[in-house]
Amino acid sequence: MRVVCEHCGLPFSLPRAAPDRRVYCCSGCALAARVSVDVAAGAPPASPLLVAALGVAFLHFNQLLLWLLAALLAREAEGAWLAPDFLVLGSLGLGCAVWNILVAAQYFSGARRLVDWLLFVGSGALLVCAVWSVDPAPAAAATTLLGAWALRGLAKKKVPRKK
Ligand SMILES: [Zn+2]
Repeated sequence: MRVVCEHCGLPFSLPRAAPDRRVYCCSGCALAARVSVDVAAGAPPASPLLVAALGVAFLHFNQLLLWLLAALLAREAEGAWLAPDFLVLGSLGLGCAVWNILVAAQYFSGARRLVDWLLFVGSGALLVCAVWSVDPAPAAAATTLLGAWALRGLAKKKVPRKK
């Protein structure tokens, strides 16, 4: 069925949707809508959702930071660049956590279009490659890509809903 994003007005289709449930095209729209409801109600926009979003941003920041440190501290040994294990594994672990949270948030926001599934699968494959090759770089690419896609609605202006 055809639905319209409650926040940005983007039309998209869902296999099925509960008529009384608000749908959003991405996590960013779900977050922005939730925060603007709080502000409109006179409450501080410190919803658990916002705190969770900041938490994910913090994890993602640390994932990139550990990756950077790993790259800076890598030493050449036996013809290969070796970075301290705890930095590489820490960055990969954070990457897996961020990816899972992003996918869950995006899924529950109602974003289930083909392009969403393709991005879940594509970035998931990138993450598996990263873990397989013990390389934080593809994991950083995967979470940055998925995060940018999931939160794109935050940058959008609210448009009047067409009835
Ligand atoms: Zn939207």
